[in-house]
Amino acid sequence: MSLLDIKSLETFYGASQALFGVSLDVGEGEVVALMGRNGMGKTTTINSILGLVRPRSGAIDFAGRKVAGLRPYRIARLGVGLVPEGRRCFPNLTVHENLIAAARGGEWTLSRVIDLFPRLGERRDQYANTLSGGEQQMLAIGRALMTNPRLLILDEATEGLAPVIRQDIWAAIRTLKAAGQSILVVDKTLSELLPVADRCFVLEKGATVFQGAPGELTAELQDRYLGV
Ligand code: ATP
Repeated sequence: MSLLDIKSLETFYGASQALFGVSLDVGEGEVVALMGRNGMGKTTTINSILGLVRPRSGAIDFAGRKVAGLRPYRIARLGVGLVPEGRRCFPNLTVHENLIAAARGGEWTLSRVIDLFPRLGERRDQYANTLSGGEQQMLAIGRALMTNPRLLILDEATEGLAPVIRQDIWAAIRTLKAAGQSILVVDKTLSELLPVADRCFVLEKGATVFQGAPGELTAELQDRYLGV
């Protein structure tokens, strides 16, 4: 059974339809890439999973529960951890306070998060709003891990970061995968994303148009669905 199983999802913003039939699943311990050009529905799919927008039709099963229509806090408590686009942390809390505020019991503890991102240990008493963009991203991932999510969702986690920091984030994602963490990841850097992904889903105009192993996403398909 999949950890996350989405079938034929249709989501609207007011009268405007954004998703026209998204199907997607993530198995336990799998890293799944959600891909597509700008505006194709990736963030709307994530917002639908989290209950931030309410799908009009279709099904979302998470850990064996039907979650479409549940409140966001209830879905989060079932074990969905989001690292949102734009790396939101509490700006006026320190690194340590940000991490502790998110903590829910489980394997991910403060010391394990700091092992993953040693910089967060070095910056422990610094306010989040004084961190670099890359450090804030590490903190956003650390916060999501502190909730001990069964599924971690990363929305554009490397966007806008310096290349050397991107490498740190990708290394962390590979470490998480090796530790068996289930991850749904949206990212535009195919050269890093494809090697770490077990499977890929591609959205085009709000619908799933491809699903398969990274190796099946040929240059022609990449050009058709992901080219600029
Ligand atoms: P990006 O990579 O640019 O973030 P995306 O694939 O995540 O793109 P979405 O943000 O899900 O795409 O957008 C899907 C469609 O829904 C787009 O046509 C977009 O204009 C529309 N949309 C997104 N958010 C809203 C909103 N709050 N209100 C109305 N329409 C929206």
